[in-house]
Amino acid sequence: MSIYIDTHTHLDFPDFDADRDSVLAECERLGVRRVLLMGVTASNWDRIWSMASADDRLYAAFGLHPVFLDQHQPQDLQLLRDRLDQHAGDPRCCAIGEFGLDYYIDDPDREQQQRLFEAQLEMAVDLQLPALLHVRRAHAPTIATLKRYRLARGGIIHAFSGSLEEAREYIRLGFRLGLGGAATWPQARRMHRVIAQLPGTSLVLETDSPDMAPAFTPHQRNTPQNLPRICSELAALRGETPEQLARQCLHNTCELFDWSATALS
Ligand SMILES: [Zn+2]
Repeated sequence: MSIYIDTHTHLDFPDFDADRDSVLAECERLGVRRVLLMGVTASNWDRIWSMASADDRLYAAFGLHPVFLDQHQPQDLQLLRDRLDQHAGDPRCCAIGEFGLDYYIDDPDREQQQRLFEAQLEMAVDLQLPALLHVRRAHAPTIATLKRYRLARGGIIHAFSGSLEEAREYIRLGFRLGLGGAATWPQARRMHRVIAQLPGTSLVLETDSPDMAPAFTPHQRNTPQNLPRICSELAALRGETPEQLARQCLHNTCELFDWSATALS
């Protein structure tokens, strides 16, 4: 049986309050052995930390998401740094994220986003943590910025939907590309062509639950239970078997976070 890690979820969101335990039990049955929870605002950090501390399958990342710019307070960057320092060396705290640049939202405050982005990149450099990045319509400025901050451990470009050229730039900068349900939609033809050409060593799997529902459960709550089927559909686009792609992504994810793949099987 294939083993999977969902590298990007918001399983702490209220969408899962009614049945989180049964979702996780079902994940385990399906081989989805590890699930990452994203910190998006200072207000969800305690929640994801208590979830990750109480459950072997859950890992936490802490960050300040660009879409929630209005909710961030001036002191939040210092609070983030304090928290990362406090959890230093604790394997449950596995990355800084989710953060990045989003130029897709209405009227983005690019200057403010950039400041927040760079402050968190600085922490990733300082603390040698992987960075889990949210990038929408902002690949060029993201790549330009990453070239100025050399992240020893790289990270993940979550829900990657850029071009092959952009993918190559990220890979050169030490990043992996997070792929999920978006590619299961038949109309995503450009993405299908790019995915077919990406090097297997750069790929990791994610759902972004509860968002980004795959085509096979349209307009429903996305859950990490969908990851095995997403993997199968991605593998078909690449002319690989689902087992091959699952094994490769597991290896890539464990390498990034410095985890043992054998401990998961
Ligand atoms: Zn996210």
